Amino acid sequence: MQFKAGQLRRVAGASVPVFRHVGHNPGPMTGPGTNTYFLGAERRCVVDPGPADAQQVESLLRCVEGPLDVILVTHTHRDHSPAARLLQEATGAQLVGASVPDAIAQDATFVPDIEVQHGQVLELQDFSIECIATPGHVSNHFCYLVREEQGLLTGDHVLQGTTPVILPPDGDMQAYLASLAELLTRPLAFLAPGHGDIMRQPHAEIRQLIAHRQRRENKIIEALRKSGPASIDAVVLMAYDDVAEHLLPWAAKTLLAHLIKLEREGRALVRDENWELLTHEGN
Ligand SMILES: [Zn+2]
Repeated sequence: MQFKAGQLRRVAGASVPVFRHVGHNPGPMTGPGTNTYFLGAERRCVVDPGPADAQQVESLLRCVEGPLDVILVTHTHRDHSPAARLLQEATGAQLVGASVPDAIAQDATFVPDIEVQHGQVLELQDFSIECIATPGHVSNHFCYLVREEQGLLTGDHVLQGTTPVILPPDGDMQAYLASLAELLTRPLAFLAPGHGDIMRQPHAEIRQLIAHRQRRENKIIEALRKSGPASIDAVVLMAYDDVAEHLLPWAAKTLLAHLIKLEREGRALVRDENWELLTHEGN
């Protein structure tokens, strides 16, 4: 089986091997489980250790062959970073990531030793990693580029088989689209997402994701044009009619992210919890 919990597989990389460990946390929001990546022939660097349960940490420690130097986290949602502290206690590795924002579903235990900066390059034993700020899904999200491979570890910024939820106010649709556009300017050979499989056509994937958001925005504008002022609960039924019912509460949050973007652009406004288009959009 391709995604077997606890299994370590080499999934990418020629000179810098990229190994994937699948977490013991499959589910509607995590797909087959959180992907943890071990980088380099000696696996001394790990990205996104995942949830802090004993089984996960034990399983990760089995993947560490010698010393572990660095633990990177893409962001601090509870399915990505909580095992970092436990893994650090067991190995002494340095924690690298961005501090936890004041937002929901965050891992308050994560305290980085190195506060990651946009453009920072980490020189590891036999390869280097460029840290790229990619706010949007959450404000403290970073992607990590294995420079020798042009391979990008995308966390929840780009997922395989699904699109990330954007949870306002910390999640920000404008920032998300700008972060995607920034990635398009770079040469990329593969994307290694936080959930799902390796993607070998990075630019096509990123362009599809931008087009998907644009189509959704168009649907939201169309729904508001037909309905006039409407609540989030009403708009979500119209603009997300292709989404399974149990996912609608999440869709409503991403819808709000779209509406906030339209509001900032002067294209929509909210009055008494009802959203409406500004006149020029309604025509
Ligand atoms: Zn996340």
